[in-house]
Amino acid sequence: LGRLKERLSKTREGLVRRMDSLFLGRKEIDEDLLEELEEILITADLGVSTTEEILEDIRQQVSRKELSQPEALKGFIKERIKEILLKEAPPFPGQTKPHVVLVVGVNGVGKTTTIAKLAHYLKSQGLKVLLVAADTFRAAAIEQLETWGERLDLPVIRHQPGADPSAVAYDGIEAAMKRGVDVVLIDTAGRLHTKVNLMEELKKIKRVIGKRLPGAPHDIWLVLDATVGQNAINQTKLFHEALEVTGIVLTKLDGTAKGGVIVGICHDFGLPIRFIGVGEKMDDLQPFDPQAFVEALFD
Ligand code: GDP
Repeated sequence: LGRLKERLSKTREGLVRRMDSLFLGRKEIDEDLLEELEEILITADLGVSTTEEILEDIRQQVSRKELSQPEALKGFIKERIKEILLKEAPPFPGQTKPHVVLVVGVNGVGKTTTIAKLAHYLKSQGLKVLLVAADTFRAAAIEQLETWGERLDLPVIRHQPGADPSAVAYDGIEAAMKRGVDVVLIDTAGRLHTKVNLMEELKKIKRVIGKRLPGAPHDIWLVLDATVGQNAINQTKLFHEALEVTGIVLTKLDGTAKGGVIVGICHDFGLPIRFIGVGEKMDDLQPFDPQAFVEALFD
């Protein structure tokens, strides 16, 4: 909890500390106070709809006289945020073997690093992991994944740059089935300038995987960069509409004040956050624990 607390310090500064100073010395919850609170929640990147909903809840409680002291607002907001972040998610990895995870996201969000961290995490739990380099658009992406494979001593299925990404994915599933692999992590392209093509490419990968192994991919995880704030919401909309994402991995929560975006994503899309990235090292990826997250943020 100590490390998480330290890594979330900027978000805590922008959200919780600002609330503390707003509530300090105030005697009542009036419109003026609520407007300033709204400003804080928006600036902390919770997003408009989440902020509006929280404020509406507060106004109702105030009018029913269930809430009257400004200092009680902090606890109220903490509980609301916790409720939003608590989303049911099936266990990972599931019962099926191999459990196939299609990892998607825009270039630069930390997708490849996240795959390496995830592989490291799973391997340390004694699971057999296989990586698939299905971003054939960039030669560097294939090389980067191979380098991680070497460092982590894990097999990487790859083709030549420019090859059909769904063919690589197909081969990856086949290899995993033959080798008794527990978890397959598939890296995909993230070039956003050709949105339509990218979404079609990803849909095809999804389809082809499902043909080789019915039920797969078992998960489609969208990797998002917390430092882009509200842009992460737009990215979620884009990928979720095309692919039916099953979970979110939020990276770079360390060193950003925009960590509140995690609440907005959960609220707007109802998607569970599965892992969070809090640094550049291999063990800086943590399974997301809403309870611990909220405690670290509000402590
Ligand atoms: P990709 O283009 O999405 O595959 O992105 P990369 O995996 O190459 O990562 C881009 C940069 O983000 C690299 O310098 C990573 O070290 C960095 N990065 C990834 N995750 C985190 C994180 O949780 N915290 C920080 N501070 N940096 C991260």
